[in-house]
Amino acid sequence: MKVLVINCGSSSLKYQLIDSENESVLAKGLCERIGIAGSKLTHEAAGKEKYVVEKAMPDHTTAIQMVMDALVDGTYGVIADTSEISAVGHRVLHGGMKYSDSIVVNEDVKKVIRECFDLGPLHNPANLMGIEACEAAMPGVPNVAVFDTAFGMSMPEKAYMYAIPHEYFEKYSIRRYGFHGTSHKFVSGEAIKFGGLDPKNAKVIVCHLGNGASVSASIGGKCVDTSMGLTPLEGLIMGTRSGDLDPAVVQFICNKENLTVDEMLNVLNKKSGVLGMSGGISSDFRDIEKAKEEGNHLAAVALDAFYYRVAKYIGAYTAAMNGVDAIAFTAGVGENDKVARKTICSYLGFLGVVIDDEANDVRGKERVISAPESKVKVMLLPTNEELAICRETVALVK
Ligand code: ADP
Repeated sequence: MKVLVINCGSSSLKYQLIDSENESVLAKGLCERIGIAGSKLTHEAAGKEKYVVEKAMPDHTTAIQMVMDALVDGTYGVIADTSEISAVGHRVLHGGMKYSDSIVVNEDVKKVIRECFDLGPLHNPANLMGIEACEAAMPGVPNVAVFDTAFGMSMPEKAYMYAIPHEYFEKYSIRRYGFHGTSHKFVSGEAIKFGGLDPKNAKVIVCHLGNGASVSASIGGKCVDTSMGLTPLEGLIMGTRSGDLDPAVVQFICNKENLTVDEMLNVLNKKSGVLGMSGGISSDFRDIEKAKEEGNHLAAVALDAFYYRVAKYIGAYTAAMNGVDAIAFTAGVGENDKVARKTICSYLGFLGVVIDDEANDVRGKERVISAPESKVKVMLLPTNEELAICRETVALVK
């Protein structure tokens, strides 16, 4: 079955066409600057030259049409006709409290995605546009919504309730939701398979460390806690996000700098994290590491604080589960940065974690990086959100 996987942002659309039989990527690409001057589609098909089309894309419907044209193109395409596409899987940010699993889209599902615009103001409107564009371009082909929040829905109340007046939960569904759910579900599942763990009871901590970063704890593949909250701002220190913070900081800086709360939230989302801590060097961990090597103190502190917070979450989640069988590292930093993995694990000697430096000297490959005597299996497991969305889609439409 050929499945088109779509990840829509407000002005971008990423896609992959995946053959679900052998899980190979037939083609992938990106539409940029949708609705803005200078729109561009970049399309890559296995074994073919890169194909770039610079043409106005006033909306997502036009973008989807251009993706279809690229997929069936005589030279750069990979299918003869769009009827070969059996289903479309969409990454959708927020499913509110309604969806704890992926679902085939109908009018009710679209209504819920719309009701969650408040909770995911940047992503949910774009995600819905992507779904409606596919409905228009491929009538009758099922669309599946795969929610970033679905994995977090199995958290118990003690993990998802904020200690604020209950009326805000009742009125506005203010609670912890968690994000990166597709990745956490995929990687915790892979950890159980790859690590040969008990599928029903395995206690797994997944550290998804990229530009956005989060940690999850799951038992038997079901999430019991995760570090992002109502929005992706809570939890770890990230590329540009502050993560956990005393909320009084918001009031204090707003008063001193004459900022509105919205402006302050923009600072916490876009100008904080290792970018802010390092005095503006970069949000890219490679740049921060380079600056640290060159003797920059703020860069060194930013990195240390990043590692320290990941380690604290691992400690907290080990307590939450009364133990841990495996810790998995994934995403840009988790898959590529052996120093990050080693330093984070250096806090975990009390759990009996021992890293094998030779095994840890690896990038982007499934591998156990702990020593045989380690009491907890530590693994590098590359995430693959597109493949996860493809699998969820196939499971629902087959
Ligand atoms: P996102 O999907 O959240 O944008 P990714 O998972 O693609 O992020 O991760 C991107 C981040 O991974 C970059 O900011 C970069 O700092 C980090 N990264 C990639 N390669 C390395 C590396 N070799 N060493 C350290 N960090 C790396």
